[in-house]
Amino acid sequence: MCAIEAGKRGRSVVVLERNGRIGEKIRISGGGRCNFTNTGTAPENFLSGNPHFTRSALARYTPGDFIALVKRHGVGYHEKKAGQLFCDRGSRDIISLLETEAREAGVVILTGCEVGDVRRGTSFEVSTSAGDFACQSLVIATGGLSIPNIGATDLGYRLARRFGLQIVETLPALVPFLLAPDELKWTAPLSGISIDAAVSTGKKSFRENILFTHRGLSGPAILQASSYWTPGTPVNLDLSPGTPLAEMFTREKHDHIEIPALLAGVLPKRFARAWCDRFTLAGPGRNYSDRKLAEIAAGLHRWAVVPAGTEGFGKAEVTRGGVDTNDLSSKTMEARKVPGLYAVGEVVDVTGELGGYNFQWAWASGFIAGQYA
Ligand SMILES: Cc1cc2nc3c(=O)[nH]c(=O)nc-3n(C[C@H](O)[C@H](O)[C@H](O)COP(=O)(O)OP(=O)(O)OC[C@H]3O[C@@H](n4cnc5c(N)ncnc54)[C@H](O)[C@@H]3O)c2cc1C
Repeated sequence: MCAIEAGKRGRSVVVLERNGRIGEKIRISGGGRCNFTNTGTAPENFLSGNPHFTRSALARYTPGDFIALVKRHGVGYHEKKAGQLFCDRGSRDIISLLETEAREAGVVILTGCEVGDVRRGTSFEVSTSAGDFACQSLVIATGGLSIPNIGATDLGYRLARRFGLQIVETLPALVPFLLAPDELKWTAPLSGISIDAAVSTGKKSFRENILFTHRGLSGPAILQASSYWTPGTPVNLDLSPGTPLAEMFTREKHDHIEIPALLAGVLPKRFARAWCDRFTLAGPGRNYSDRKLAEIAAGLHRWAVVPAGTEGFGKAEVTRGGVDTNDLSSKTMEARKVPGLYAVGEVVDVTGELGGYNFQWAWASGFIAGQYA
């Protein structure tokens, strides 16, 4: 996006890409259909050391601007969940769109190009496996550390550091949680079961599905919470948000209904059985006092889990942290102390929630940098 915009201004632009083709993350995104934006994008959807940093870019390049580009290229799309736009055919359409725009703007794309050293003399001197380049502006757009097997590297962070920019600690985000062996003993057999839940960590809460896995917990609500999670702290799960279970249990216990069946009224049957086994709950519901039923209900509304960790960068959708926003201008994305050096997209300490926000940030930050580089 940055290359396209700079190219349109008549700048001489080269993109140095290590992979054999551009846009590998786009290709695998959104389950192969690229959730390319979210119509509700706002600064509140991003995690950053400076919560206001995204304002300028998001205001100057909006989801509407990217949708207009998508329409101009005749790319079919649809809204999946509120505001989340996906390609009808596949992510390839977005990559082709960018390639066409780049070609028309006179941008040269060099693939299979390993970037080695970068020095600063009167210009930036970049040595690569495809030869040496000298440039007035150098834009770091190397993305995050997630999914190293499709090309993610730490080059961007190394370069930024080399030029004196601070790096906010990088951590996997939008990533499944691992559970400790004692918890896994009863949750692993539930692998594949999903439950509509509200997951809270710190002051953030997300209402979406959770998914049991062989190694822990995943699903959209868990991925969202992972970005805000502090290792070692509990994550609270309400497994029946919006349905006051205590009242329901007391109302229904008078029938000859067994306690696992009582729970199965609102939760998946296999989960209800496993939960009852774990807490040795058996027999008819009417054998339980209202107080005991309220306790069982509270346990389901406030299941506190301390994840043993996350699945790490190998499974994370994005990287939290990165180039410190204090060292960048939010208007231009240029390094405050290094004229001509820019950083855009995921390499910056700006992390979007799940739902198309990360691409909107990549487009918007690239767009504004492209007006100045
Ligand atoms: C599985 C998955 C699904 C996702 N789905 C979505 C989604 O649907 N919607 C959404 O908004 N976000 C999604 N994301 C996040 C989104 O893909 C990224 O936030 C976005 O691609 C960041 O764009 P970027 O241009 O900053 O970095 P990238 O797209 O990662 O591009 C960086 C480029 O730099 C290249 N590079 C890295 N190191 C070097 C080097 N040393 N030399 C030369 N080139 C180098 C890489 O090969 C890569 O092509 C998903 C991520 C993953 C992993």
